[in-house]
Amino acid sequence: MHEMSIALSVIDAVTEKARQEGCSAVTGIELVVGRLAGVQVESLRFCFTAATRNTPAEGAELIIEEREASGRCEDCGATFPVESYHVKCPSCGLYRVRIETGEELSVRTITIE
Ligand SMILES: [Zn+2]
Repeated sequence: MHEMSIALSVIDAVTEKARQEGCSAVTGIELVVGRLAGVQVESLRFCFTAATRNTPAEGAELIIEEREASGRCEDCGATFPVESYHVKCPSCGLYRVRIETGEELSVRTITIE
């Protein structure tokens, strides 16, 4: 499952960070997930709970901030919120829209003890 591999790589990264800092537990993880990142947030939460079992991140609070996606028309330069990759410019009607934000998936903060 896609979300499971994401959860595992996030947990790997944060437990490695905790280890480097000489900490034994991760108590909080904050993620930023763009609308177009291709991630089901509820599924990610579920996978996360399963994947942290028996790791230093077990029981960590998971906060997921979903970020709206936005695009810019390459023709007229208008910027606007988008829900998918196949959108047309609301200003000129062309389908030459470049996605500017919304594809990100990153760890914003972690809390370790
Ligand atoms: Zn346009």
